[in-house]
Amino acid sequence: MARRATKIVATLGPASSDPVMLEQMIRAGVNVVRLNFSHGKAQDHIDRARMVREAAQRAGREVAIMADLQGPKIRVGKFAENKIFLEPGQRFVLDAARTELGDIHAVGLDYKSLPQEVKAGDILLLNDGLIVLTVDEVAGSQVITTVKLGGELSNNKGINKQGGGLTAPALTAKDMEDIRTAMSFQADYVAVSFPKNATDMEMARQLCNVAAAEFNHKPGMIAKIERAEAIPRLQEILLASDGIMVARGDLAVEVGNATVPALQKRMIRMAREHDKVVITATQMMESMITNPVPTRAEVSDVANAVLDGTDAVMLSAETASGKFPLETVIEMANICREAESSEQVQLDADFTGKTFERIDQSIAMGALFTAFHMGAKAIVALTDSGSTALWMSRHRIHVPIYALTPKVATQRRMALYRNVRPLLMSTSSDRDTALADAENHLKTRGIVQSGDIYAITCGEPMGAPGGTNMLKICKVS
Ligand code: PGA
Ligand code: MN
Repeated sequence: MARRATKIVATLGPASSDPVMLEQMIRAGVNVVRLNFSHGKAQDHIDRARMVREAAQRAGREVAIMADLQGPKIRVGKFAENKIFLEPGQRFVLDAARTELGDIHAVGLDYKSLPQEVKAGDILLLNDGLIVLTVDEVAGSQVITTVKLGGELSNNKGINKQGGGLTAPALTAKDMEDIRTAMSFQADYVAVSFPKNATDMEMARQLCNVAAAEFNHKPGMIAKIERAEAIPRLQEILLASDGIMVARGDLAVEVGNATVPALQKRMIRMAREHDKVVITATQMMESMITNPVPTRAEVSDVANAVLDGTDAVMLSAETASGKFPLETVIEMANICREAESSEQVQLDADFTGKTFERIDQSIAMGALFTAFHMGAKAIVALTDSGSTALWMSRHRIHVPIYALTPKVATQRRMALYRNVRPLLMSTSSDRDTALADAENHLKTRGIVQSGDIYAITCGEPMGAPGGTNMLKICKVS
């Protein structure tokens, strides 16, 4: 089967928490598994992480684990009868001081500062925008509203304010606890929900690094872009992160559905320009939660995200609780492959106009340029930290990148990089031996054959991180 460049992130849940199912999903193309910390207890995540590592090992693939923190999801409380039905035009009160369970007239809030942060005329969206309330008045602890768009409202549904502006800090006490859990199994990525600025990301990174210090581990930090406030601060957030997620679910509620497609394109472009990774998320294959085939619109959505240049496409409920988790992964992998093969092979202006000063980055760009013009079969990077492979993968030249690293943590982290196939190989400290080993490795795996040309980069002295300073163009004998 043709190689696929775009990576697939799948969310684990009841539908995929069986070792056999998970192994099949990994074999079918899952590169990154997302553990959603909005659901489940610490021990569930620890057990699931172990299951992922074991299933990946059985499948002979290296898979990254992404711990997705719940964040300050602003929610209503619970109802006496678990849910109510709101009629358009009726009055409904959100009351921060209410201690009894909710009913048709009012409900409590677990976000106590909501009354201080909204005013008459504001629009509140509940349950991902399915319910719309307009604020008439704020009276002490009570936010008094009129229902504009009614419907069923059940326990703990999320609240967004149209246009953004709620000040909840990005990291809650629960998130800090969850960071410790995630670092206990050395999650490869940590996704931060609702960051507003670079500081939120820096703080999360520090907490992760402290919690993982005993393992000498540093996870990649992903900022979920899902707040209106994050949009004007995209650049600073990117600089403070290793990647972003186009979190279309919450983002669409805050900025309006119609704004999201253009924002997706801009975020993907900006992430790549800043040498960061980007995941496109939410409702990509939504109908496959219940149907065995996707809609035409979903197929186009996934294909367009690939053409926009995303590193990865993400599945949420489709694999967490859907009826067809495996079929969804298979279908998504096919759409990615087809979209990739339809792309024009050319060096884009971003590439030819790029300026760089670092030696390692210059080597990475030189390898791309040469491989493109020589029609090389592969680009090979001997990499310790994975940065050479990351730089190479920011440009689409359609020559597959094989990243050989002696570090399993680097191998897993690179599982998210578009067009990078991470492989584990212990590198000799002698350059000629290391290069010969690399070629043998590629030949054994059938990646190159006699007569093929490939470009390989490495650093001398061997094994020093950030030291890539050599490019060799080889013809397989
Ligand atoms: P969630 O984030 O699934 O954790 O809400 C993604 C999104 O909002 O799109
Ligand atoms: Mn979200």
